[in-house]
Amino acid sequence: MATENTPVKKNDLIEMTFEDLTHDGAGVGKVNGYPVFVQRALPGETGNVKITKVKKNYAFGRLMEITKESPDRVDAPCPIFKQCGGCQLQHLSYQGQLRHKQKQVREVLARIGGLEDVTVHETIGMDEPWRYRNKAQVPFGEMEGGLIAGFYAERSHQIIDMNECAIQHEENDTVVQLVKKIAKKYGIRGYDDKSHKGTLRHVVTRYGYRTQELMVVLVTKGKELPNKENLIEEIRSELPNVKSIVHNINSKRTNVIFGDQTEVLWGEEVIHDYIGDIKFAISARSFYQVNPVQTQVLYEKALEYADLSGKEHVIDAYCGIGTISLFLAQKAKHVYGVEIVPEAISDAKKNARLNGVENVDFAVGEAEKVMPWWYAQGVRPDVIVVDPPRKGCDEELLETIVKMQPERVVYVSCNPATLARDLKYLGDRGFETKEVQPVDMFPHTGHVENVAILELKN
Ligand code: SAH
Repeated sequence: MATENTPVKKNDLIEMTFEDLTHDGAGVGKVNGYPVFVQRALPGETGNVKITKVKKNYAFGRLMEITKESPDRVDAPCPIFKQCGGCQLQHLSYQGQLRHKQKQVREVLARIGGLEDVTVHETIGMDEPWRYRNKAQVPFGEMEGGLIAGFYAERSHQIIDMNECAIQHEENDTVVQLVKKIAKKYGIRGYDDKSHKGTLRHVVTRYGYRTQELMVVLVTKGKELPNKENLIEEIRSELPNVKSIVHNINSKRTNVIFGDQTEVLWGEEVIHDYIGDIKFAISARSFYQVNPVQTQVLYEKALEYADLSGKEHVIDAYCGIGTISLFLAQKAKHVYGVEIVPEAISDAKKNARLNGVENVDFAVGEAEKVMPWWYAQGVRPDVIVVDPPRKGCDEELLETIVKMQPERVVYVSCNPATLARDLKYLGDRGFETKEVQPVDMFPHTGHVENVAILELKN
């Protein structure tokens, strides 16, 4: 809403210079100190902007023309970059993206964590920052021309039909194109979220980079999957690497992809992949990092920071399917993993068995409840690793870390803001942040993952 006191009004045309970039890739310029956010504008650039939305403390604008271009600007290679909400930074050179992520982490740590002097290393990027995703989740729908499958337009629920995604592994693109072709042939209809009618809602594909195994998951609105046998037969004959074809039923009106009912249509329940030397079984619904190349980089960094000699007891909080735990177990005396999702813990146990790892224990529950219980049982780890979701660690968990007095804490984070908050909490209670390593797990998007090492001061 436009107010009298804002320096710009809706539909104003202004020329402005951009100073900064937000975490979701918008350029930031200021009019008398009042920030205007403009998608696809870069720091150092000057451009003509049309104001599209005005709020009390900030506004949004559309970039109409660039009058001075950043040397870091590149042509986005993806033809639907502007419509699709998946990537935000394709117009910035890859080296520019890595520098931007490092700077962003540095600033957030200083602003929220009061950590002005901590070393933030250069972001570790990928040699080949395209085609890195091992999982695609593609919505299906209907348009006048028939069945479509693609991605949601930025901030909307409109599906843009497409066949190729520049950050997706080629195999996943191939699967989606193929299912679209076969479904069209058999008259299977795409789902329409407005009328809640139609059949096929999503196709989810997972690809094991190392094993080359493929999983195809068909998510439908009801139990019916017309021409099921033909569908399976054609998928199998066209994709010899398919190891698992799964049917999931989601009959709710929801944005959530999966419903509760899952049935294997053909093949195995899981596919396998490796991170380093460790083999993982991955089922349709379990959490598994989407960038396998950088996951290994991230975990190796975590292991290096944990600095294990074989004598240590280690806790891995928020352990998922045990990925980091099994990595740590190779070098530790004993690892305790804790995770809230029961299926993930049952996968973690299977994965331990699959690799013959015996020095781990996994517990289901809220980490902030299980850790105090471990503490009460006398568990005193030498090293604690945490890898929480975006909202960061619960205060009760941080409190328990302080009570346990480990020598080192390794903090793996997908959100710099909550990382900074938690490092400050621990910093005020005797744990010094030594260094932070940003790792680029999601090239061309605004996301950045970090590993921090903290040491107990004595
Ligand atoms: N370390 C794993 C998973 C990290 S993602 C890996 O790298 O693959 C964060 C995990 O925290 C998810 O598996 C999520 O289910 C779990 N989680 C979320 N809240 C939790 C809580 N309060 N207690 C324990 N685990 C939680």
